[in-house]
Amino acid sequence: MANPRIQEMERQVLGDIWTTDEPYRTLRELVDNIGHRFGGSESERLGAEFLRERMLAYGLENVRIEEFPVAGWERGSAALKLVTPVERDFSCVAMPYCPSADLTAELLDVGDGELADFQRLADLVPGRIVISAAETNRPGERGSHRNDKYGWAVQHGALAHIFVNQNPGMLHITGSVAGPGQGGVAGPEREAPIPAVGVSWEAGSTILRLIRNSDGDGTVTLKLSNRTVAATSRNVIGEIVGYEKPDEVILLGGHFDGHDISQGAGDDGAGTITGLEAGRALAKLKGQLRRTVRVICFGSEEIGLLGAFHHAAANDPATFRFVMNLDGAGRGAGGQEQLTLSGWPELVTWFKQFADNHHYTFTIQDQMNSHSDHYPFALRGIPNGTLNARDTSAGMIGRGWGHTEADTFDKISLRGLQMSAALVARLAIAISEDDTFPTRHRTQEEVREQLEKENLLERAIAAGRFPA
Ligand SMILES: [Zn+2]
Repeated sequence: MANPRIQEMERQVLGDIWTTDEPYRTLRELVDNIGHRFGGSESERLGAEFLRERMLAYGLENVRIEEFPVAGWERGSAALKLVTPVERDFSCVAMPYCPSADLTAELLDVGDGELADFQRLADLVPGRIVISAAETNRPGERGSHRNDKYGWAVQHGALAHIFVNQNPGMLHITGSVAGPGQGGVAGPEREAPIPAVGVSWEAGSTILRLIRNSDGDGTVTLKLSNRTVAATSRNVIGEIVGYEKPDEVILLGGHFDGHDISQGAGDDGAGTITGLEAGRALAKLKGQLRRTVRVICFGSEEIGLLGAFHHAAANDPATFRFVMNLDGAGRGAGGQEQLTLSGWPELVTWFKQFADNHHYTFTIQDQMNSHSDHYPFALRGIPNGTLNARDTSAGMIGRGWGHTEADTFDKISLRGLQMSAALVARLAIAISEDDTFPTRHRTQEEVREQLEKENLLERAIAAGRFPA
């Protein structure tokens, strides 16, 4: 039987969310007035101030900015020139933490850039510049992350890595790169060991066609100037304090930082604003929620999940009842939400029951990955999941518009933001009020087993993120 007290709260929150365009206007102001919000930049600082003021205006409690040191990165110039078989300039962007360089070397096509590709071509990689697909998550396939591919290039002795966007549109692909073992470094030492640049699908296809048609002969010059520097980043936090168990926290939040070549409207302005909108509506229930809902806007996700690592380390894991990462929420037309849990079968059952009870279908998956802000909490054994919403309109693979110049506000709809925010708010109420929510934390030994199973253990240890 539905609990009338909870039903009344839901009615209030959903009515509120459904009858305002507040999140749409707020996201527009964030991307148009503040800009890209790259981790550690002045733009990110201004974004934090903006979000803090919104939280205060919405009546959230304990509103604060949490500062932490990061390695910032400053983009300079980037030039990519094919020297042989023909001379031609191609547009490229350096990827965050890419060092300066001036080098000429033979190019090697490593295909999708999976480990098997590097192993197959192991004799040829040393001393060459490799070119591979960026993310290749075609429907039904699970391709490796950019940073895995980059790590294999480094390990096999490549001089540089060129990433090709897999979606057409003359859009450069970006994404931070880090060498093995550099997870925790917050200064110039975090600079990546070899250069990495992103090119469009069209530039990549042309380069590959030219070299394939001359039996693999291709030489490239890369001239890059960038700087990795010590900087400060920020998380923005606000709460609705629980009346009965204030020390048990449901954490909701996306990352408000973006890539410097983009507006970061979908990744992850929309997820940040989804969390903020859920918080705005829930703030009106002050004094009615048994447990604390904490809304967080993470900084510096794009350059290594640095805000989430900071917040996870700064709090006793026992504080968190559930962590709901909103990286990718609020996108698309609405009604395409999916929740990815980090290997928690008992939570799958609970969320499926929730979906049934509410007659609201969303996809539920259960597989640990290391690619967003849930991960630092997963490493500490905290129940967690990532709620996102797919933008299926363009039929693109992988990140779609994300990490390109085309991740812009025009792709966002009010309805998409509202539907994600409504789901997040209802889930937060249910997790707060339902004593049967399965909240047992994993032991470090259990986490180790999970990491091992997902092939993540070695990298987590090398990055100093998990004890050896
Ligand atoms: Zn993101």
